[in-house]
Amino acid sequence: MESNGAAAVHQRHGLRHVLLFPLPYQGHINPMFRLAGVLHSRGFAITVFHTHFNAPDPARHPDYRFVLVPDGISGPSPVTIEDRFARVIWIGDACEAAFRDRLAAVLQEYSRDTVACLVVDTHLLEIFQVATSLSVPTLALRTGSAACFACFLAYPMLCDKGYLPVKDSQLDLTVAELPPYRVRDLMHIGEAGHHLMCQLLARAVAAVNISSGLILNTFDALERRELDRLRRDLAVPVFDIGPLHKLSPDGDSSLLRQDRSCLEWLDAFPPESVLYVSFGSVAWMSPRDLVETAWGIAGSGVPFLWVVRPGMVSGSADDHRLPEGFEAATRERGKVVAWAPQEEVLRHRAVGGFWTHCGWNSTTEGICEGVPMLCRPCFGDQMGDTRYVEHVWRVGFEVGGDLERGSVEAAIRRLMTGEDGAEMRARAGELKKAAVDCTGEDGSSRMAIDKLVTHIMSL
Ligand code: UDP
Repeated sequence: MESNGAAAVHQRHGLRHVLLFPLPYQGHINPMFRLAGVLHSRGFAITVFHTHFNAPDPARHPDYRFVLVPDGISGPSPVTIEDRFARVIWIGDACEAAFRDRLAAVLQEYSRDTVACLVVDTHLLEIFQVATSLSVPTLALRTGSAACFACFLAYPMLCDKGYLPVKDSQLDLTVAELPPYRVRDLMHIGEAGHHLMCQLLARAVAAVNISSGLILNTFDALERRELDRLRRDLAVPVFDIGPLHKLSPDGDSSLLRQDRSCLEWLDAFPPESVLYVSFGSVAWMSPRDLVETAWGIAGSGVPFLWVVRPGMVSGSADDHRLPEGFEAATRERGKVVAWAPQEEVLRHRAVGGFWTHCGWNSTTEGICEGVPMLCRPCFGDQMGDTRYVEHVWRVGFEVGGDLERGSVEAAIRRLMTGEDGAEMRARAGELKKAAVDCTGEDGSSRMAIDKLVTHIMSL
């Protein structure tokens, strides 16, 4: 077992331990570490179990203890969408035996009564099962929206009713049982991957059902109706304690080095003039879409900061190279980085729009800064998040279909300088206020954290 110097601190008399096990992907690690920050500030000692794959850096969290759980993951990253989801399912299984040993050792080392609970990502079913078998109470962290988890719960019903597997002829059909989703907005990966998706979501629901509660990185003013629905449909308590990055702002858990030079670069631009473009840590685009995106951005005339992550473009190793002539054409008003300090970028006064893939973290990070969005969902819950951004909160709109430079240009102008773009910005500003309120003294998320802490102490 690996540990750092924090172990001695953790053994202080009376300290309660919260153990955590994130799914090892950026969009899952970030909220788990933010939750760790919240619980640590409430007096809990933190122990993080983690895989070799996408391991966090213990040096950045000197107050926490880290326990490595060998995962046996090797070889190249999965390429197909089915393989990506299959890996998510496989991780819990791959870690199960080693985790059992590590958890037993931790329980022996800490006095058993001092371990309050283990918080686990909903996708790691085997980890919940091991903890339960060793009498450790679990809490489930789901890193997507409440609406998305309602979709997980409804999946068998949606299959029975014929919405799933998705048929091309039904893409625009409204899902009457789960408004405002249309069939195209549901989590799906086509007919071939249908069983895999059913398995993935059923496992997450099973994990929540054997846990002592569900923690969601959302907030009441954003998803009240969806939270009510979950509370009605689940037997375990639901804690809506987001936006976690606002409640625990110092938890740097980035797996890639953030290029901070872009913050200084932004300083030179007027307020709300720059479009920030980033598609998160996993989403990909075709080489053709990269070229059309590049020339669309160039043609819009709008200043931009663009995250072009290595590996973001499907194809050969150096395929993320931008088209010839792009850099020269945009040098005066554009910057491209491999990875950005996204929260700080979105907070920067110069940023006036966010072209995003609508991962849940990016969506909430944009909302919390009052930045309107262009949405280009790629897979998973991103289509559903896009639906909420466009149709429910009305703080952005989708750039759909095959990308063409002309339509990209027009979409960017509409968002950044158009009349309805201004309306979206105004509504985003209202949501920003709601996010500030929910994290304030008597705010809904603060109160939910109080309840969560009381709940943890009672387990
Ligand atoms: N992120 C970042 N720098 C970047 C792009 C993304 O730090 O250049 C962070 C972003 O702030 C968010 C996370 O990576 O917290 C991505 O999570 P999200 O759920 O949006 O998407 P995913 O990567 O899981 O698809």
